[in-house]
Amino acid sequence: MKVIIIGAGIGGTSAGIALRRLGHHVVIYDQMRENKPVGAALSLWSNGVKVLNWLGLADEVAALGGDMADMAYRDGRTGETLCEFSLDPVTAQTGQKPYPVARADLQALLMRAFGEDAIHLGTRMVGLDDDGARVVVTFADGSTDVADMVIGADGARSLTRAYVQPDGAPEIVREYSGYTNFNGLIAADAAIGALDAWTTYVADGKRAAVMPVAGDRFYFWFDVPQPAGLPYDRADGTAPLQAAFADWAPGVQALLAAIDPAVSLNRVEIWDITPFHTWAKGRVAILGDAAHNTSPDIGQGACSALEDAFALGIAVATNTLSVEDTLRRYERSRTERAGELVLRARRRGDETHAYDPDVTAAWYESLRGSDGTGIIRGIVGNIEGSPINLGVGAL
Ligand SMILES: Cc1cc2nc3c(=O)[nH]c(=O)nc-3n(C[C@H](O)[C@H](O)[C@H](O)COP(=O)(O)OP(=O)(O)OC[C@H]3O[C@@H](n4cnc5c(N)ncnc54)[C@H](O)[C@@H]3O)c2cc1C
Repeated sequence: MKVIIIGAGIGGTSAGIALRRLGHHVVIYDQMRENKPVGAALSLWSNGVKVLNWLGLADEVAALGGDMADMAYRDGRTGETLCEFSLDPVTAQTGQKPYPVARADLQALLMRAFGEDAIHLGTRMVGLDDDGARVVVTFADGSTDVADMVIGADGARSLTRAYVQPDGAPEIVREYSGYTNFNGLIAADAAIGALDAWTTYVADGKRAAVMPVAGDRFYFWFDVPQPAGLPYDRADGTAPLQAAFADWAPGVQALLAAIDPAVSLNRVEIWDITPFHTWAKGRVAILGDAAHNTSPDIGQGACSALEDAFALGIAVATNTLSVEDTLRRYERSRTERAGELVLRARRRGDETHAYDPDVTAAWYESLRGSDGTGIIRGIVGNIEGSPINLGVGAL
């Protein structure tokens, strides 16, 4: 079978590897001109790592992953440790250590593992035409390609998403999550947080955090609740962060001082999409952010895209009636779980960003002196329903 995948992000490349390993002829098209992921890094929780293990990349991913042994919360203003505990129970209960990884490293690994010869960059899909026997894909330069199946892994602003919706369905729109995220990579520094811990400073609905990634680096990020559409120029550098975190603890000042905006600083407004349940039409289906655009509040967006790749691989390997039937079964296996994670992330974002200050104050209070049991239960709860666990859940 010939499969065209639109989008060479984490979703498209992982699905491509799965389908290629099943012996299909897979070609990926992406509008980007070079591998330049937006965002510095991300946490791959156990469900995401397990899909990569299934794709044959266990050693490579472990080599990219930071050693995130512990988790700590600190008061943003005073620096006082609110709680600190081991993440070993997450590994023990889910069967896999989670790994924070630099995005560029992960993206390069996935593109290499898929085969760069079959990835066509600089090629923007503009149209799809499914005549019931095959799908013709049209690109912005007027060229076309033809496949038995098309997977739209074309991200949060997916064109394929609109294509697969039923005629007359309401338009699917992205919704602003109420805050802006700044992120990047710096050299790891114990003055900010322990070198093997995910450390988060919290106060006033804002967060400043670091996580270790390979190469003695920290992935850092800041959340700043603010309206959408505020002007920001790259030349502004860390100015908005200096303003928002001016009187925060010494560890946060050390973090701010370590950032070189010319080397690594991204600013991204956070939006999501209320879950919807039509992911397939005929021989075309969507996957990854195209299907479930989430806020990063539980770190599950890419992990969900990896789960999609797993579910699609299993659906293609096991169903024989037709491409249409296979994609409907893939859709059926995924929309409920992926949608639930989007809603969990939204609830968590509401809790942490002081949209209701009393709710966030209660959360801060719950952190003080916590042994981590509730936090670990939440993290494991996001993972145990993953299809990669084959119904076993957490032990
Ligand atoms: C600040 C932030 C932090 C995050 N942290 C985490 C985390 O810790 N853990 C986690 O699991 N997830 C995290 N996520 C979510 C994660 O980044 C996404 O879920 C994931 O990258 C989505 O991958 P994707 O392949 O579906 O989409 P994308 O990476 O967006 O890839 C889509 C690709 O499609 C291409 N494309 C789009 N339209 C077309 C077209 N018409 N023709 C051709 N190509 C096209 C684009 O160029 C792009 O390369 C975070 C997200 C943000 C914003």
